[in-house]
Amino acid sequence: MSFVSSRQKSKHIAVNRPERIFERPTDNSGNFQRVADYYGQNIFHVSDAQEIPSEIRNELNQAVKDGAIISREHAKIVAEAVTEWAIKRGATHFTHWFQPLTGSTAEKHDAFLDFNGNEIPIETLSASQLIQGEPDASSFPNGGSRSTFEARGYTAWDLTSPMFLKKGAQGTTLCIPTAFVSYHGEALDIKTPLLRSVSTLSHEATRFMNLVGHKDVKKVNVTCGAEQEYFLIDKNFYFERPDLVMSGRALFGAPSSRNQQLDDHYFGAIPERVLSFMEELDLELHKLGIPAKTRHNEVAPGQFELAQIFRDANIAADNNQIVMALIEEIARRHNFVALLHEKPFAGINGSGKHLNWSMATDTGINLLGPGDEVHQNSRFLAFTSVVIEAVKRHSKMLRVSIASQGNDHRLGANEAPPSIISVFTGSTIGKVLEAIKDGKEFTPEGEITLDLGADQLASLPQDNTDRNRTSPFAFTGNKFEFRAVGSSQAVGFPLTILNGAVASVLKESNDILEESIASGNSVDKALLLLCEKWMKSSWDVVFNGDGYSDEWLVEAEARGLPNLRTTADALPVMLDTQETSFLTDLGVYRESEILTRYNVLTERYCSLREIEFHTMIDMINQYIVPAGIKFKKDVAEVLKLQKELKIESTVEIDVYKKINLLLETLYEDSRNLANMLKALPEDEPERSRQIAQQLMPLSEQIATFVGQLETHMPTEQWPLPSLYDMLFLR
Ligand code: ADP
Ligand code: MG
Repeated sequence: MSFVSSRQKSKHIAVNRPERIFERPTDNSGNFQRVADYYGQNIFHVSDAQEIPSEIRNELNQAVKDGAIISREHAKIVAEAVTEWAIKRGATHFTHWFQPLTGSTAEKHDAFLDFNGNEIPIETLSASQLIQGEPDASSFPNGGSRSTFEARGYTAWDLTSPMFLKKGAQGTTLCIPTAFVSYHGEALDIKTPLLRSVSTLSHEATRFMNLVGHKDVKKVNVTCGAEQEYFLIDKNFYFERPDLVMSGRALFGAPSSRNQQLDDHYFGAIPERVLSFMEELDLELHKLGIPAKTRHNEVAPGQFELAQIFRDANIAADNNQIVMALIEEIARRHNFVALLHEKPFAGINGSGKHLNWSMATDTGINLLGPGDEVHQNSRFLAFTSVVIEAVKRHSKMLRVSIASQGNDHRLGANEAPPSIISVFTGSTIGKVLEAIKDGKEFTPEGEITLDLGADQLASLPQDNTDRNRTSPFAFTGNKFEFRAVGSSQAVGFPLTILNGAVASVLKESNDILEESIASGNSVDKALLLLCEKWMKSSWDVVFNGDGYSDEWLVEAEARGLPNLRTTADALPVMLDTQETSFLTDLGVYRESEILTRYNVLTERYCSLREIEFHTMIDMINQYIVPAGIKFKKDVAEVLKLQKELKIESTVEIDVYKKINLLLETLYEDSRNLANMLKALPEDEPERSRQIAQQLMPLSEQIATFVGQLETHMPTEQWPLPSLYDMLFLR
């Protein structure tokens, strides 16, 4: 079958696919079960597993609280209980589940099967198999931190995150969340530094609360809720686009005439086939104890979002990895392919992952929750100022934490949070903070309720945090929202950097507060003085205007805010110890661990871009140029015929010339790209710079020419599914 007829067939299949029917859990009398009945049925969490005797559970929970090492006997009891639990639910295998530096997750399965002394088969998981594993670390990226002869890496059970069942088509595997470290204790994963950053931040925030009078606070949790954006396209189109398969994004494609200018997709009715997918996804997530809460269409056609209820950062980070994997898996069951890439299609919105972030004490206080009277709430204001100072001081590392080749298409492009890190406070809180900075009194002005203009609607109290979608880091009511995070990225890394940045400024703040209170200031006074200090030093990072405007670029530069446009610009920040010392001082990373991450991320950036370039060149040679030549031949035949018949017409000549010119340009550009690829230096930092500064612009130019060619060719002769097909047909 030719490409073209297969594309026609795919369209037909996509629009006629029935919704998948899946089974919703029912009780014995055939009634649908309530969510609360099956919520968490596929997880085993030590903190509340009924299968573990309650005294032991209490001791384990205490050990977790104190950060103590759990005893082998206890581990044995848990191992036996979880094995029994998992086997009853059909599990045959277990795996240590971890997050290597690739940002995805890794697993190596072992059967529960073993022999007892008499070669009789038994099923077992020993205490040491639960606590520690030893995957072959040499095949994971390590950025040169270990030589291969010493490729031992260990996975260590993280008992604070629930174990869970992963269901395949027929079998089931027990997944044990673990950290992944080298023989010398070097963190080879994303989780380990995250855990370190959470305890540091908890320590500093607890000290802060104790200082300001909350002596009962013993621990502060970092809370996180991730909103996940993604695209869905029909499976058939996906496999006809080698660029999507190879790189996760359409390397070219002419925009359709209706994209998102009508804004009618956002919050519109969810298409039926998609809703069916979302229902199954929510069901599976709820069984895994992942509190999926919100589902809706996003701004771009074919784009959707899922948000879960916030929880402890470490669990939220694990949850988000599972969410991403399940979105992909369940999409396939519905004959969709989910694209988690930050920018699968040029010309329409990309996908991000809003990282909602706050801190909550073990006594239940949200540290970023304002009281009823914002201007009187000195603790809240001081805390907010600490976060703003942290973002200002460590904006470069925050930029690094969200750097990826995919996110480069959003950040700095004209339709996503820019690569300049600034903070949106909202106008009310912004005014309060500004008044404090200037040593003035704040008087709240005007209406505080919104007039909805309809008597039958209850009037809503005005949200103190007007919405601003253009800020990379926004205060949204009782939390901050780090919006520049990429949709495909593991949230652990940006969380770690953010926690570290805030912990570092908090540490300094605690010393200031302690001294200030000791010198006779009241707690309120000391808090306001602290707030004044931080607002004076960090006011430049506060920006409540339109972050997508050109004026902001100019103004940000005048304010001296860094603008690290590409990943290649951002990553070298990790080599600057002035920028990273806050992390090593706090013990969140060792110096060598930062270097490791620099090497891994740089290598990844280069490899992923190179895959894109190679794919682009192949597709031009194998699909685009042949299609163009074929069309030229058709036109040439008409031209020849016209000449024989002595008919005058300029249209065909124009078309022929246009196609010819585009093909020549394309051919030449793609040959240049191939040559530049061959000439790339071995040295990776230099390689990444050349890729960002020379090869990327050329590849973008090529994409534009391919788009032009597509718009000038008959649609039935175009060999690839168009953006229209992929975004609108389902
Ligand atoms: P949106 O930003 O789309 O308007 P919401 O404001 O309702 O959505 O919430 C977005 C996310 O913020 C949800 O995942 C929610 O659980 C999370 N969230 C709410 N409060 C907190 C908090 N204190 N800490 C962390 N995340 C929070
Ligand atoms: Mg949000």
